[in-house]
Amino acid sequence: DEARAGYAARNPQSAAMLRRNQAFMPGGNTRSVLFYEPFPLVMARGEGCHLWDADGHRYVDLLGEFTAGLYGHSNPVIRAAILEALEGGLNLGAHNMLEGRLAELVCGRFPSIERVRFTNSGTEANLMALAAAKAFTGRPRILVFTGAYHGGVLTFVSGPSTASVPHDFLLAPYNDEETATRLIRENADSLAAVLVEPMLGSGGCIPGDPAFLSALRAETEAVGALLVLDEVMTSRMSGAGRQAMLGLRPDLTTLGKYIGGGMSFGAFGGRADVMALFDPTRPGGLPHAGTFNNNVLTMAAGAAGLTQVFAPETADALFARGEALRDRLNALCRARAAAMQFTGLGSLMNAHFTAAPIRRPADAASGDARLRDLFFFDMAEAGFYLARRGLVALMLPLGQPELDGFAGAVGQFLERRAALI
Ligand code: PLP
Repeated sequence: DEARAGYAARNPQSAAMLRRNQAFMPGGNTRSVLFYEPFPLVMARGEGCHLWDADGHRYVDLLGEFTAGLYGHSNPVIRAAILEALEGGLNLGAHNMLEGRLAELVCGRFPSIERVRFTNSGTEANLMALAAAKAFTGRPRILVFTGAYHGGVLTFVSGPSTASVPHDFLLAPYNDEETATRLIRENADSLAAVLVEPMLGSGGCIPGDPAFLSALRAETEAVGALLVLDEVMTSRMSGAGRQAMLGLRPDLTTLGKYIGGGMSFGAFGGRADVMALFDPTRPGGLPHAGTFNNNVLTMAAGAAGLTQVFAPETADALFARGEALRDRLNALCRARAAAMQFTGLGSLMNAHFTAAPIRRPADAASGDARLRDLFFFDMAEAGFYLARRGLVALMLPLGQPELDGFAGAVGQFLERRAALI
């Protein structure tokens, strides 16, 4: 309560902004994930790896726009690409000079992506991938997993809450190879696809076991269903996502976040024979219009990022930095025998307030929610901005001083709150 009161006292402008916006948006919110009690921070500006809120406090940005902000705020390369595209005119209502370039870059990076199409978000990319799988197989069912998040209308973080989506879902526990195998075999004739994140992102940065993921590959293949790998968050883990690290070749992959250079973006792609469903020269194909699918700003920003900033070696280096940071934070937790740990892979991690091993969403749910809130308030006070649920997504401009500073702040949190953890 004291931490909450301190937060409220330090951030009157953010509080006032929420009150004002409540008159125009339900709860003053247009992005559910950003809301928390007593009120969310309003950010006024970003530069490099820093953010400034409406009350003028400066933060190290450890949230990185839920992984879309990989390049940092106002990255000069991305900025120049956007400005150049802007000069050529927005919304040309036609094919443009840029979309083929980004498609070539994405196909060049991901060997499993033989053909790709662009969308405006990761949510749409997943919806289109599922539509493709159903049309290609002529089957209705989709196997998904507890704790998974594939978009606002495809969320299974707290069980199936997707009544509004016309899909026939089967739900299995994440990282439970046996149940998934059984369900795939039992539904051999009706299963169109298995949709899975190689690491649960919103579900708390819980990595998929390699054996679990390869079982999904083998079992889908055996029954003629498609494996759709949602790499919207994990694509940053190497030049070609987590699939390359695991030697896994999905039928379809969905992408989003930073690949559009930080602009609105999604993509789905994979096997040429499946993607041929969208070939407009073929009769009876699947429609996939979308006013902004090839918008010039995203196409330009995405291509600039992949060619000039995020080379595969840069992806590997960022992964290694993230691993080192997570090891360091976990060592701090262990040294104090605290009921706290950081799960994740590479540059993506999530704080959890339990010392027990976390392999499935239920393990994470047993963590102490009040400590999670306290951690958020203490980090904000110390000048580190992360997701309220404890997600940390490292961005490229973060330097060693910022990472050292964060480790120091976590150490202080463990000391200051020792009686509670
Ligand atoms: N899939 C995963 C794994 C995600 O983490 C997200 C967003 O957080 C999405 C899909 C949805 O992407 P978007 O928010 O662009 O619709």
